[in-house]
Amino acid sequence: MDFKISDEARALQNEVRNLVRKELIPPESKIEETGKVPDHLVQKIRDVGLFGLTIPENYGGLGLDCFTTSLIVEELGWLHAVCRCLITNNLGIGSQSLVKEGTDKQKQRFLPKMASGEIISAFALTEPHAGSDTSALRTTAVRDGDFYILNGIKQFITHGATADVITVMAVTNPDKSSKARVSSLIVEKGIPGFTVNRVQETMGPKGYAPAELCFEDCRIPVSSRIGEEGQGLRLALEVLSHGRIMLAAAAVGLSQRLMEEAIKYAKLRSQFNKPIAEFQGIQFMLADMATKIHASRMMVQQASWMVDQGQGTRKEAAMAKLFATEALGFVADHAVQIFGGMGYMKELPIERMYREARFYRIVEGTSEIQRVVIAKELLRDQ
Ligand SMILES: Cc1cc2nc3c(=O)[nH]c(=O)nc-3n(C[C@H](O)[C@H](O)[C@H](O)COP(=O)(O)OP(=O)(O)OC[C@H]3O[C@@H](n4cnc5c(N)ncnc54)[C@H](O)[C@@H]3O)c2cc1C
Repeated sequence: MDFKISDEARALQNEVRNLVRKELIPPESKIEETGKVPDHLVQKIRDVGLFGLTIPENYGGLGLDCFTTSLIVEELGWLHAVCRCLITNNLGIGSQSLVKEGTDKQKQRFLPKMASGEIISAFALTEPHAGSDTSALRTTAVRDGDFYILNGIKQFITHGATADVITVMAVTNPDKSSKARVSSLIVEKGIPGFTVNRVQETMGPKGYAPAELCFEDCRIPVSSRIGEEGQGLRLALEVLSHGRIMLAAAAVGLSQRLMEEAIKYAKLRSQFNKPIAEFQGIQFMLADMATKIHASRMMVQQASWMVDQGQGTRKEAAMAKLFATEALGFVADHAVQIFGGMGYMKELPIERMYREARFYRIVEGTSEIQRVVIAKELLRDQ
């Protein structure tokens, strides 16, 4: 393994770190209040090219490798969830099916606008009856000449109500095995028959509002299918496997921020005539937090390095997601504890980050599903 960070990657990491900490974090109480990222900040994010980190250069992105992307996504993990998701959906699950298997025409049409942040993308796999069990999808796309007729409901879709382009997984070949029944279709905002049933409120911030989507006899051109017919679930799972490494990277970033905030507070807050940082009980919490963050970061960097070497990473990506997101839960809980009563108050961002942290163990495959994936790979390898 070679974890050396190139000078170019280090420079971009520093540029993003400065943008995040000096410009995007200070107004986050405004984002929390309105649920929106102000336009002038979106422009700054565009200027650095963050929406297109993973989109190839010939389609307007930065075309970064997985290792460098993971370094940048760790920095983005410090952001308010509404701001982070705006960026990471476009560079992750929203664009990656197209990057991997889109035709040149599809790529030309959508990727440059995703890379510039001009269009917002979403990925719609989950349904009321199909969450962890993706083989249970009921949304159908029945072939009618040069079109598919799309019918079904999707739920919990990040940016579902606002996205311009959604990758929708639907059953096109019901008679085939679960591995060959589903296709990925590009659905554009505003097509007849597509409605947003409701925006779903969460324990997370106001603007972080996944949506339930309804498709009723939507006519989707066959030319909007990504990849081969029947290969949509395989493609979706590949996209999710890569996405897991990025979610783990963001979890490392949020953990690091929580720990740094806790260290600052522990040095400032005095009880019994000395800073609480001098109590061994507090020091041990910080030591455990730091150790888990370090292990998580190493797992993310190893898995992303393996992707760049063209090695299979199903197991390592699942391990990184499992470990880093469980570590984040631990770190967030201990950060609240170190802040004491102030950790529970809305005056400080700690309670918000604690709520945000909870989502990481559920999305893009729960912790239990990561364990299922890891165990399957272990048993197959032996
Ligand atoms: C805020 C948010 C945003 C989301 N954004 C998107 C999105 O953009 N696109 C999208 O497609 N989906 C999205 N999701 C959906 C998310 O991926 C699912 O919630 C997740 O995959 C779990 O599915 P489920 O909620 O149906 O839970 P279920 O599958 O019903 O699971 C319930 C419980 O059972 C456990 N369980 C299930 N199967 C097993 C098993 N075999 N072994 C052991 N335990 C098991 C689970 O781990 C969990 O603890 C989002 C969810 C949230 C909360």
